[in-house]
Amino acid sequence: MTTTTTTQVALITGASRGIGATIARRLVRDGFAVAINYASNATEADALVTELTHAGASAIAVKADVSKVEDVRGLFATVEEKLGKIDVLVNNAGILKTMPLAQTSDELFEQTFAINTQGVFNTLREAAAHFNDGGRIINLSSTTLALNLPGYAVYNGTKAAVEAFTRVFAKELRGRRITVNAVAPGPVATDLFLNGKTEEQIQTFAKMPPLERLGQPDDIAGVVAFLAGKDGAWVNGQVLRANGGVA
Ligand code: NAP
Repeated sequence: MTTTTTTQVALITGASRGIGATIARRLVRDGFAVAINYASNATEADALVTELTHAGASAIAVKADVSKVEDVRGLFATVEEKLGKIDVLVNNAGILKTMPLAQTSDELFEQTFAINTQGVFNTLREAAAHFNDGGRIINLSSTTLALNLPGYAVYNGTKAAVEAFTRVFAKELRGRRITVNAVAPGPVATDLFLNGKTEEQIQTFAKMPPLERLGQPDDIAGVVAFLAGKDGAWVNGQVLRANGGVA
């Protein structure tokens, strides 16, 4: 695979499916070479790479568990080796298992913080070491943080930390022309949201925003593309809630 020196490189974590896969498609349309990170779903990640390369893009799939420091180091090294220096990092990988706090096991607590929070910490630290000056970092938070629904205590805790990282890290990168922002979607029709919910529960969520529908991955990919592109250059240290007005 060959890349030109002018092609910008985007690494999207958790991009084998859902919002991450749609962000990858959108960033390819915007001219980026993309690295599709995934945890276990090689079939979907490889299919996406095939789709994108057939469309003329430079795209690779890289398996790495973002909660593991060594995996993340290997992820950055592989992307740099195959595509070049990373210009845009989208921290999208995440899990959600709703559970009342009192019934949450130690294992679920640890797993959710390991992937949603330490995963972001791991990639941010690596990005600080590897990024060219002038990059963009976009972290996925969640509007559930503003809704305070029962069952979301641990998940919201992981995303509150991500929003805190976003605001502070934007300042710590002073002088390097790297912006750090977060996008906080409302309910989006992906496996993460749909799995385990009844049709009635799904419809209840769909009616919550004044725009009266679920978000679609494209709704979020467009916001990420804005922050990754030239029009988003002056937005820094912010959390952008993309949720149809639910909160
Ligand atoms: P999804 O459809 O469940 O997809 C999750 C993606 O993350 C998959 O590509 C998965 O890879 C990857 N992943 C999971 N654990 C990983 C790990 N340890 N290391 C690397 N990759 C891992 O989820 P989604 O709905 O697109 O959510 C994407 C992000 O948006 C998450 O951060 C989520 O919290 C946030 N968000 C979603 C919603 C919503 O309603 N959907 C709302 C607000 C915020 P595999 O395919 O290999 O498992």
